[in-house]
Amino acid sequence: MRNLSLFSEFAEFCSHRSTAVLFVSIVSFAVLLPLFPQQKSSSFLIVNAQLADGTGAPLRKANVRIVLNHIAEIGDLQPQKDESVVDAKGLVLAPGFIDIHNHSTDGLLTDPLAETQIAQGITTVVQGPDGDSPWPLIAWIRTIQQLHTAPNVAVFAGHATIREQVMHSDYKRVATPQEIQQMEQLVGQAMNQQALGLSSGLEYEIGGYSNTAELIAMCKVAAAHHGIYMTHIRDEADKSFEALHEEIEIGESAHIPVEHSHIKLGTVGVQGKAAAYIQVIENARKRGVDFMADCYPYDAWHSNLKVLVPDKQYENSQTVRKALDDVGGASRITITEFKPNPSYSGHTLANLARAAHVSDVDMFIRLIREGDAAQTEASIICQSMIESDIKAFYQQPWVMVASDGGIGASHPRGAGTFPRVLGLYVREKHWLTLPEAIRKMTFLPAQRLNWKDRGTLRVGSFADIVLFNPDTVIDNATYTNPTALPTGIEKVWVNGILVWDNGKPTSARPGEFLGTNGTPIQILN
Ligand SMILES: [Zn+2]
Repeated sequence: MRNLSLFSEFAEFCSHRSTAVLFVSIVSFAVLLPLFPQQKSSSFLIVNAQLADGTGAPLRKANVRIVLNHIAEIGDLQPQKDESVVDAKGLVLAPGFIDIHNHSTDGLLTDPLAETQIAQGITTVVQGPDGDSPWPLIAWIRTIQQLHTAPNVAVFAGHATIREQVMHSDYKRVATPQEIQQMEQLVGQAMNQQALGLSSGLEYEIGGYSNTAELIAMCKVAAAHHGIYMTHIRDEADKSFEALHEEIEIGESAHIPVEHSHIKLGTVGVQGKAAAYIQVIENARKRGVDFMADCYPYDAWHSNLKVLVPDKQYENSQTVRKALDDVGGASRITITEFKPNPSYSGHTLANLARAAHVSDVDMFIRLIREGDAAQTEASIICQSMIESDIKAFYQQPWVMVASDGGIGASHPRGAGTFPRVLGLYVREKHWLTLPEAIRKMTFLPAQRLNWKDRGTLRVGSFADIVLFNPDTVIDNATYTNPTALPTGIEKVWVNGILVWDNGKPTSARPGEFLGTNGTPIQILN
């Protein structure tokens, strides 16, 4: 029945012939159309800024003129008559940050202003990571456009989302050839609806039951539509290397560019092995695999309780004991949300066990059972990465910055990621130069997505830009106050419209829905 309803939804979409036709025609001519500015735009000039242009080139001084939603001129420019001027003395002007792994699919619906995102300098939030996307995409895209968001929005199609459309609740097995064929069709449909590619979350419930062949089959369809494969791999713990090899095999077999989500080595057993991990990736890149990765600047991850137990034996004491040991013990695990018992939030698993006078393992199993009974799972933060690995990853030229956070995230990366890299890893620790850090936030994600007109400061680019103070920029979000806004991001423009000004949102919402080439796509009703 679900199957039927899916196809009837699609049929319903197709039956709105005018919509479909308009969609297709605007997709074809998107670049030629006026780009639907929602606020009054005019020319303005930014003077005295140091430019970090996104390419990694050294900072240079130049003035930048914005006309409507584009960068019109860069150079030694004088203000024109009646032109407004922004004096950026002491500040750095950079392309707006593109967050390729952002969890705001629902958040945007209630908070289209996305204050915690634009406050970081993020001008584009890419949705649908970890195998989980809105569905059908076209309906969600239309909703996003009707809402008007402050940042630009783009979206991946989720592997688990599509898998569930086909297999429904009977997903705890390998798919049949017929089912894989249906999934391939839905990937094609999503790609036609402007998905950037296929995302997967193979450490999670639904996606985790797929085999490599299923993923290759679906990736081939995405590749045929010039999409990319963005993946949270099957294991980020003791089997990290096996999972990496599977990811490379998928990229190689499907001839698809690969984006490795939130690269990490997340257990005691693999900590310190970044150099070997990087070597495997370098070898693949030398063979021609188009492999890139993103990394968030924290030593703790945020996910669900069950991901701690890769073999899914959640009530087997021995397995659970090993899972807890692997991350350094129950004191490393903090519950951030648990609907059946909200009072657990903010406590470590070790503390909860002590308070309940049970072992850590028994407390874990209790949380699993209480969660299962309520058809939910505890959200957790787990501190299991080490700094030397994070540093090694960040220093690779193919590793970009992404938050894995989003609106309302209960991990500080949701409100802190980009300023944290600039303040902590650039200014304080000197892991990266400022131009290189900016490249990882702008040009590199744009290059990954094959977007030509965003991610660099150059004439003709969309005017997604951020102005920040390199001496003060820093994150303020913490594990106890994860939505605290950062310091030092002075002004942010999206498509030429000021959305963030001196510590506050302007309330403008000029974000566009971006299609596969990074240009605005308008779906009209
Ligand atoms: Zn993930």
